[in-house]
Formats: sequence, C-alpha cells, structure tokens
Amino acid sequence: MSTLRFHAIKESLKRKPVVIEEKQRRSEIFGSNVFNESTMRQYLTKEAFESVNDAIKLGKKIDRIVADHISTGMKEWAISKGATHYTHWFQPLTGATAEKHDAFFETIGGGLAIEKFGGGQLVQQEPDASSFPNGGIRNTFEARGYTAWDPTSPAFIYGTTLCIPTVFVSYTGEALDYKTPLLRALQAVDSAAVAVCKYFDKNVKKVNASLGWEQEYFLIDRDLAMSRPDIVQTGRTLLGHSPAKGQQLDDHYFGTIPNRAMAFMRDLETECMLLGIPVKTRHNEVAPNQFELAPIYDEANLAVDHNSLLMDVMDKISDRHNFKVLFHEKPFAGVNGSGKHNNWSLSTDTGVNLLGPGKTPMSNLQFLTFFINTIKAVYDNEELLRAAIASASNDHRLGANEAPPAIISVFIGDQLTKTLNELENVTDGKLSPEEKTDLKLNVVGKIPDVLLDNTDRNRTSPFAFTGNKFEFRAVGSTANCANPMTVLNSIVAKQLIDFKNEVDALIDKKDMKKDDAIFNVLREYIKQSKNILFEGNGYGEAWEKEAKKRGLSNNKTTPEALKAKVSKKTLELFEDLGVMNKVESEARYEIEMEEYVLRIQIESRVIGDIARNHVVPTAVRYQNVLIKNVKGLKEIYGADFKKLAKEQLNLIEEISEHIASINSNVTKMTEARKKSNKDENIETKALAYCNKVKPLFDDIRYHCDKLELLVDDELWPLTKYRELLFTK
Ligand code: ADP
Ligand code: MG
Repeated sequence: MSTLRFHAIKESLKRKPVVIEEKQRRSEIFGSNVFNESTMRQYLTKEAFESVNDAIKLGKKIDRIVADHISTGMKEWAISKGATHYTHWFQPLTGATAEKHDAFFETIGGGLAIEKFGGGQLVQQEPDASSFPNGGIRNTFEARGYTAWDPTSPAFIYGTTLCIPTVFVSYTGEALDYKTPLLRALQAVDSAAVAVCKYFDKNVKKVNASLGWEQEYFLIDRDLAMSRPDIVQTGRTLLGHSPAKGQQLDDHYFGTIPNRAMAFMRDLETECMLLGIPVKTRHNEVAPNQFELAPIYDEANLAVDHNSLLMDVMDKISDRHNFKVLFHEKPFAGVNGSGKHNNWSLSTDTGVNLLGPGKTPMSNLQFLTFFINTIKAVYDNEELLRAAIASASNDHRLGANEAPPAIISVFIGDQLTKTLNELENVTDGKLSPEEKTDLKLNVVGKIPDVLLDNTDRNRTSPFAFTGNKFEFRAVGSTANCANPMTVLNSIVAKQLIDFKNEVDALIDKKDMKKDDAIFNVLREYIKQSKNILFEGNGYGEAWEKEAKKRGLSNNKTTPEALKAKVSKKTLELFEDLGVMNKVESEARYEIEMEEYVLRIQIESRVIGDIARNHVVPTAVRYQNVLIKNVKGLKEIYGADFKKLAKEQLNLIEEISEHIASINSNVTKMTEARKKSNKDENIETKALAYCNKVKPLFDDIRYHCDKLELLVDDELWPLTKYRELLFTK
C-alpha cells in the first residue's frame, strides 16, 4: 500500500473545524494593528502628524528631525502592542513580499540595554539584497539597494513585528520592486486626470486611482496537498485523472461554505480586520474546494499592499487549519482555475467617482470623457495590457477556453454601446444650439437611468465596464496587482494627456467652445477605438477569427506576450511619464522571461521525476501482480489458461505501452531541456521552453493518467483528484 497517500487520507479524515471565537465587533477591531490616523494623533506630536499627513496627501518630503519624532511615536505604539522587531516590508520582483527583521533591542554598555528605533531606521535601509532579481541593473559588486519608507501606506504590526511598507530601489535609483513604478504611475494618472477634471470642476486638486481586487483560491487539506510532490514544488498538479464528479453539477458555486473552510475564513477575516484590510465578501467559487474573497475597494497603492499582505496572511492562517492555500491559476486540470479581478476606477478629492455616471448632463459628460478615454487607452495599448498579466501560470487560463481569452477587448453593455453610437454622429466642428440641447437631454442626460438597469454582465470579457468601474478580469490569482495597475494607470494617464492637448488645440486654434471641443475629440476616439469593443462570447472560436480581422493581438503564451514590454512604444510611454526608464523596463522584461523559463524548468523536472520514479515503478509493480496471476492460471489450467487470462494479458501489454511512451517522452523532454539550457539568449530560450519542453507535459500526463485508471487503487502513490478536491 502506498503509505504517504493513505496516511494523508487518514489524517485528513480526522479533522475538525478549528473553533473561532469573535469576542469583539469587527468594526471595533478594524485597523487596530495599523499606525493609522487615529493612532498617529495619539502617538505623534502635532508637527509630526501634520508632516506625515502632508506626505500622504500632498506628496511632501518628511524632514529628518521630524522623522525622528515619528519613529519614536511609532516605536512606542508598536512596543505597547507587543512588537519586539521592526522590518522594512517591500515587494521585490520575486512576486513575494520581503522582510528582514531587526530587534528594537540595543545594548548601551555596562550590561544595559534599551529599545531603540530612530528616524534613520524608519526612513531608509540598505538590506544586502543582492539575491533579489534585478535584471542586470545591479551586478553583485554593486549589491546595494535601498528600501525607503512609503508614508502613503501605513505601518502595521504583524505578529510581533512592526512592518514599514517601503519601496526598493538600486543604488543608482532604478526601481527593483513593484511599488516604485506603481507610485510613479499613480502620480502620472493623478496629474493627468486633475488637468482634465478642470474642464468640469475647477476645485479638483487630486485624483486617486481605486482598486478592489477579488482573490480566488483553493483550500486543500494540508496533508493531502503535501503528499503530492507537484503541489509542494510547483503549486499545481502536473498529473491526475479527472474525478467522475467534478464541477458538472454546479453544486459548489455559492453553496453553503464547508465548516472547516468557514473557520479558516473567519480566522482570516479577523486578522484582516486587525491589519485594516477591509474584507467584505466571501463565497464558494465554481470548482470544488475553490473560494473567493473580496474587500471594499481602496486607494490603489494601499489596495496592492493589502493584497500582497493578504496572500501572506492566508498562507500562515491556513496552517492553523491544516489547509494549504493554492493561489495557482490552474491547480487542477478539468475544473475552473483562479483569477484576481481588478476593479478599477478614478475618483476626485471632491468625492466624485469619475467612472460613475452622474446626475446632470455636465457630470455625465465628465463621466463619458473618462469612460471613452479609458477605452481608447486600452485599444491603443492592448498588447501591453496583455503583457502586464503574462506569467507561466496565467497562460493556463488565458486562451485556454475558460476565464477571459488572451485577446484583450472591452465590454460596455447595450446602453452605453447605444450612447457611443449616437456620439459618433456628433457634428464635425462647432455644434448648433439645438444639437447641444438634444445631446444634453437625450444622449448624455439619459445615462444614469439606463445604467441602473444595466444588468447584462458579460463574464467572458477580460475588461468589462460594470456600472461605475472597469473590471480587469484577466489578472491571474498569483499576480501582484501592482504590475497590471502600473500599466493601466500609465496608459490612461498618457491618454488623458493627449486628450487635454487635443481639446485645448481645438479651443485655441479653432475657436471652439469647451463642450464642442470635447464632443469633437470624443467622437474621433469612438471611431478610432471601436475595434476593441466586443459584447459577444469571448471564449468562442468565432471571436478569435473576428479579433484577428480587427487586428487585435492574441498572444497566447508568456514569451510572446512579454515582448510588448520592450517595444519602442512601451519604452517611450513609460519614459515620457517618468514611470520607468529604458533600463528599468528592459530589466523587468528580462526578469519575467527568466522567471518563465525557471518555472517551466522546475515543472519539467518535477513531472519527469514523478512520471519515472513514482508512476512507472507503480505500474511495474501492478504489472508483476498481473504476471503472477497469469502464471498461476497457467499452472492450474495448463493450455486453457489463455482464455481465462485474456484481460490480464491485455492489461500487461497496455501497461507496457504506457510505460514505454512515458519513458520516451521524458527522455525527449530532458533532451529538449538540455538543449534549451545552453541557449544564452533569453528570448529564444523562453520560446524553446514554451514550444519544445512544455508540450511534452501533455504527452507524459496523458499516459500517466491512463495508468492511474488501470492500476490497482491500493498501489497508486499519488493522492487522487477526488481526494484533493472533495475532502472538506
Ligand atoms: P462582483 O463583481 O463579484 O459582482 P462587485 O462588483 O460588487 O462584485 O465588487 C467587486 C469589487 O469591486 C469590490 O472589491 C468592490 O469594493 C469593488 N469596487 C466597487 N466600486 C469600485 C470603484 N469605484 N473602484 C474600484 N473598485 C470598486
Ligand atoms: Mg467582480
């Protein structure tokens, strides 16, 4: 009997939900481990508090002396909450969060010690971070990188550590993390959007991008998950036959949440409350043992930090509940994968959601301005947007007939389609008073009513307008949202700058009224970007053909998709906006291509190992049982044995054929890998891994999965899909 699998099953059957007690209301504990406004008022001098506030709201620099005051206050607060250590908490390009803890504790001679935390330690540190990916920016001789405090994301206490969100940049100032370009992109979209807002309201001083992510994940019993070498090493199953019952009956989606999962969620939500992560929604997803969690949206930088933190917290809490959380986009073949919808919008410091239709024709014209500019930005940069969500794991979703396709398109619904069609016919040049009245009353003025009953929500669209925000659905569940958010906010910033220039030119040179100019520019945008709008079924083959005709890209794999990150257009876009210079863009491209290769390489090694060292020996063992049986029959029945042993003999042969195929494919795969590894060029190497190595996974898997159906269940060493997916 295969011991690990059956031991794991036995353990998993003993589980009981962990008892979770919630003694306080959530609203009472919300943010109590965060150095937020109310805590700052308590622990900081007035001057220090105002300085932090100015840094958050106006981007002002914090004076070094004031930083000392702030760090003292922060330390007092943290120690009062039981913290013993502090860390700069950042998001290097590994995708995970990074931390290096230092104790507050310091000796002062004479056998004495104190707790110390100065402004210098708060503001900037130099971790020896030479082992983080840097795409050649920092060679090991110049291994210094700085982490620098980001006051716009508040410090928090996790466990017994004070965590200070920071950016991570190289000695020469290049970004080595996800946060730095995001902050620059948010600044770019802020100033570009404020300038456009001034057409409608002179009082607007700041525009914030908002983000509400929806995190999908699987919860698998820990022992069962740990019994699978592929899950342990790659986060997904590389083989395994589909169970008879998968998700066909749709009986999991929105069903009652299983008890153990519920205990996990409540525990997690409590921790989220303490950390100020405003989680609100929880439910079962489509696949068995798949769930979703969503917060109330927040300012984008904070929301990105919250999501990164959440993934880490989920991992830790799941341990307490004997679960393993799988964030992988496609942990199981044959059932749905996981994504991370990014709900995005822009809102002003005067409290207006720029993607929410308003109550007056004027506010609706503002809405349409931002709405149409976003569509235009997506149209002009669809390949870059696709690149922003590319990863080895997300390739399993995009273009794989579930989740959004690899083709980027925008869904806006019937009513807004009609509105755009009407705006497309606006007069070229100055508008007559009658036309303007008509537009105000019948086109622009009508939007709020129609949107309220706009319930058609196309689930197959990668980028959909959902009433008062766009929902970027193609983002992968393992992704750091900073990457897509940097791209989205940058392309919209660029678009808004262009828009402002065009409108101003019409006002100045053609003597148009502001409204006329806006209508004129929007009309052209609608005409130009029509091809990105698609309301039909995004999974269908018909759309693939249609999209091709329209000239939209369909980059199905990561190496193809990532190229857009270093196109001339992209390099210029980021450079002009000050989001990333050429070196930074190229470094990221290199890092992501390299990561792609490494991920496929690891998967390839693991599947080779499992196939050769787990599956084949098991098949041989079972074959020997059959051979013994056949020999026994022969012994008893003599020449007649063949009639009785017919099925066994067939099975023996079938097993041999599968074994032969597995072995030859594993050999082929190893050869392909060896050859690719010699390639010094990251582009051709990634393509080889994609087109030569990875396709062999399917062949190997096919034969292994067939054997799973043939071999005695008692002998099979790998925990099966039905056990992984249906143990609750
Ligand atoms: P679903 O798409 O699953 O039906 P909702 O559309 O209600 O769920 O909300 C999904 C997410 O969108 C939530 O995190 C919510 O806070 C967020 N959201 C709502 N309004 C905005 C907005 N203006 N900007 C960004 N995110 C938003
Ligand atoms: Mg949604």
